[in-house]
This record gives sequence, structure tokens and C-alpha cells, in this order.
Amino acid sequence: MNFDVVVIGGGPAGYVAAIKSAQLGKSVACIEKNIDKTGKQKYGGTCLNVGCIPSKALLDSSQRYYDTVKHLSGHGIDVKSVSLDLAKMMDRKDGVVTKLTSGILGLFKVNNVTPIEGTATLLANKAVLVKDSSGKETKIQAENVILASGSQPIEIPIAPWSENITDSTGALEFLTVPKKLGVIGAGVIGLELGSVWARLGSQVTVLEALDDFLSMADRQIAKDVNKEFAKQGLDIRLGSKVTSAKDNGKKVIVNYSTSNGEDSLEFDKLIVAVGRRPYSESLLSPDAGIEIDEKGFVIVNEVCETSQAGVYAVGDLVRGPMLAHKGSEEGIVVAERIAGKKAQLNYELIPSVIYTHPEVAWVGKNEQDATSAGLEIKTGVFPFAASGRALASDESVGFVKIVADKKTDTILGVHAFGPAAAEIVQQGAIAMEFGSSAEDLGLTVFSHPTVSEALHEAALAVNNEAIHIPNRKK
Ligand code: FAD
Ligand code: NAD
Repeated sequence: MNFDVVVIGGGPAGYVAAIKSAQLGKSVACIEKNIDKTGKQKYGGTCLNVGCIPSKALLDSSQRYYDTVKHLSGHGIDVKSVSLDLAKMMDRKDGVVTKLTSGILGLFKVNNVTPIEGTATLLANKAVLVKDSSGKETKIQAENVILASGSQPIEIPIAPWSENITDSTGALEFLTVPKKLGVIGAGVIGLELGSVWARLGSQVTVLEALDDFLSMADRQIAKDVNKEFAKQGLDIRLGSKVTSAKDNGKKVIVNYSTSNGEDSLEFDKLIVAVGRRPYSESLLSPDAGIEIDEKGFVIVNEVCETSQAGVYAVGDLVRGPMLAHKGSEEGIVVAERIAGKKAQLNYELIPSVIYTHPEVAWVGKNEQDATSAGLEIKTGVFPFAASGRALASDESVGFVKIVADKKTDTILGVHAFGPAAAEIVQQGAIAMEFGSSAEDLGLTVFSHPTVSEALHEAALAVNNEAIHIPNRKK
């Protein structure tokens, strides 16, 4: 078999690259090893199967449950009894996943991408060996290869996987709500999945080795987020480095050290969420000549070219944030370059979102990064407590913050913690992509009443022109 483009891995980086390449007129195969219980191929990778989608399905369901229990009475809605059907909640999540993963095969059909089942290994000269689930081997010759094998959770020797010590995948499938849940790592997964189970009734303790909370976020935002999560019942212990975790079959005993010495806690379940590593097992034969770094990432340049001409790598397998949209956009850039276009990705403007409630989101530079890069900046902040729509919906926690260049007024970063923060920051990202100044955004008409008005007011606040701020500087 010969193809213009062979994509290894059918996650958001790989399947998008495959579809785009086919749309640009190439003959394309996408090889994926993941199969379901019936032997049917499951595309979508981590994101659709065990990542973005199932976690958001549970975040949404658990928030509805939590709101019903905690907040409806404040709206004058008296619900007599509320009960949780966890099995049904899990079924709904699985249904969403199946709908989306099978949809990819439909997209392949429409776009003429050939799906191939099996584990692929790149050999020399862009030959690819595929071993399917029955053990049968096939060799494919490619003009171009796109490596997109993604990432896997990091297992740490001090807390090896067991019945009650799990990674994020296991934490999406608990059959009962753990009474006491421990989480190692206050990163994105720790906060999202910790929130899911806390809302459903677990007593959640998050142990984070670093002293700083959400070190990648704007400090002003991180401080408020930490306070709000504490109010929600998430016990986040910073400066707490886990030294061992033992599962005795019923409970998990976790030992950790802090600046005050050693401590220990007992949990029913423990989620280990200390990051992910690139997944390149069986991917590369030594004579393929692909360079990888000491952490296992395939080394690529700014347009995802590897050390071999015609071989590209995208998504979690390469440097940069491990985010689905970053991988998909890299897939598109590579497909376009293979087709002779001069595509590029603006790595400066990849938005990040933590889908807690409220959401935390940002794009571009935060205040501390801009300052330490020697930039002269000004900032504008607008609290949701002053937003009519946020108050009307009982969602008035948090704020929007804009960082702008002091002289040119160009927006350098948009940060939000609050209702629809992800959508608000996305608007900021569009504005920044077009080189917007804070004044430009301030001159834009925003619908009233929307929570997006907080972005408008934050833009006005950059130049001390906000209307609805009680403490505006004179
Ligand atoms: P993957 O999605 O990991 O896909 C790689 C695919 O390659 C897999 O299907 C694998 O089976 C296949 N494969 C591997 N090796 C081979 C081989 N040799 N042969 C054939 N097939 C192979 N990101 C966001 O942007 N937003 C979110 O809300 C979000 N939530 C997340 C929640 C959780 C719990 C987790 C774990 C991750 C989340 N992520 C989120 C991260 C996101 O899932 C990843 O960044 C994204 O899936 C990476 O895409 P990828 O295509 O590079 O790799
Ligand atoms: P992470 O890198 O976000 O957080 C890991 C945390 O664990 C860090 O804060 C680290 O200091 C801490 N840690 C490490 N070792 C520790 C120890 N021994 N004791 C205590 N704390 C320790 O990683 P993650 O949360 O596992 O997420 C993995 C990746 O998945 C992320 O890079 C993220 O991009 C992606 N993801 C994204 C989303 C999203 O976009 N909403 C959601 C989930 C996952």
C-alpha cells in the first residue's frame, strides 16, 4: 500500500491532520491502535475517549447536581429531595464519547481518509509497519508521515497504580463516590476531577508539591481561584510533597512532607495527576532516524518538521502545551505545508482553560511574565460582582483582567476567572490575533446584558475609562 500521507495516531492532532490532508487532495491513511470491546476502531485519542470530553461531561453533570443541592433554593426553587444516580451519569458520559468517536469514522468516510487498525512503527525511508490486533503485519509506504501518538499519564514509583490508586482515566470511572478522595497534583486534572468528585459528595484533599498555586496563571487570578476553591470545599495543600502511597486493598495511606515535617492521610481512592509524558512506545525503529529528547518528546522545529525530511510530529508528542486545540492546529499546519502552503501557528496565542466552576482561562502574557520579560505594561480589571448579567445569574465570583503594553496600548494578555471565562478569553484571543489595542476593544459594542461586558469594561479599565467600576481612579 502507498499513500501520500500516513498519520500515526487518531487523536485530535492526528485525525484533524488526516482530514485536512485529504481535503487538500492527498491520499491519506490514519493508523490507530485503540479498539473497543467489540474490536471496532475508536478514533479520537485521549481527548475524546478519556480526556477533554468525558471529563467535561462529568464536570457538567456534577455541577448540575451541586447547583440543585446548593443553589436552587436561593432562586426560590424548593426541590424536596435530590438523589444521585451515578451509574446513569456515567452512562450519559459514555454515550457522549461513543457519539463523538464514531463520528470521526463518518468524517473519514466523507473526506476519503483510509482508517487502518493497528500499532504502527516508523521504519527507515518513510516505510510504516502496522501490526493489527490479530497480530497480522502490513507494510505501508508513505511520501509523508505525521507522527501523532500523543501522551500518557505519568506513573510515579512512590504511588504505583493499584485498585485504589488511579490515573485520570480511572477517576472518570469510579462506580461509587469515594468518601475521602486524595489527589496528587493541583494541576489542571487535579482541579477538574477533584471538583467533579467534591461536587458529588467526596471530601477532597489535593496535595501539591509546589508552594505556588497554579504557577502558570496570572498571580492575581490564582490567588482568587485558590480562595474560591477553598470555599467550595477543596482542601488544597500547597508545599506538600507526597513521599509514598500504599494501597492496602481498602484504603490508601499517603505520606507527604511539608516545611513543618512529615504528615500522613488516609483515603478511599487516590488520583495521581502529576502530568503526562509523550507516548512513543513501538513508534520508532532506530533506523527511522528520528531524534527524541531526554523526556521522550520528538524533536521538531517551529513548523513540526522532525530530523527526517517528510516526517512531521504534532500534538502531545512534541514540545508545547498538551492541549487538544494546539495539537489540531499543528495538524492543520503540517497538512498545509505538505500541500505546499506556507502555514504557521502562532504559539503565543494558544488559550488555556481550566473547566472548574467558575472557569479559569487565559491567553497571551500574564502580568508577572510580561514584567519579567522587561515589558512596560498597564492592566485593566473588571469584577463580575459589577456585572448585571453575572449578578442576575448568581455567578458573580471572579474578574476579567487585561494586560496591555503601556505605550502602544496593544493587548498582551487576557485572563479571566468567572462565568463563561473560556468564551470571554476566546474573544480576547480573536482581538489579539488581529493586533487589537485595549482602546479598540473598548470601542467595540457588546450586547447588554452579557457576562462578556466584563471584557469590554476591563478593556476600558486599562485606560481608566471603565463605567461600572465603583473604585475607579480619579
Ligand atoms: P492523543 O489524544 O493522546 O492521541 C494519540 C492517539 O494515538 C491515541 O488514540 C493512541 O491510541 C494512538 N497511538 C499511539 N501510538 C500509536 C501507534 N504506535 N500506532 C497507532 N496508534 C497509536 N485538552 C484540552 O485542550 N482541553 C481539555 O479540556 C482537556 N481535558 C483533558 C482531560 C483529561 C482527563 C486529560 C487526560 C487530558 C485532557 N486534555 C485536554 C489534553 C488532551 O486530551 C490532549 O492534549 C490531546 O488529546 C492530545 O492529542 P494528540 O492527538 O496529540 O494525542
Ligand atoms: P499538570 O502539569 O497540569 O499538573 C501536575 C501537578 O502535579 C503540578 O502542579 C506539579 O507540581 C504536581 N506534582 C508533581 N509531582 C508531585 C508530587 N510528588 N506531589 C505533589 N504534587 C506533585 O498535569 P496534569 O494535571 O496531570 O495534566 C496533564 C496535562 O493534561 C496538562 O499538561 C494539561 O495540559 C492537560 N489537560 C488539560 C486540560 C484542559 O485543558 N482543561 C484538562 C486536563 C488535562
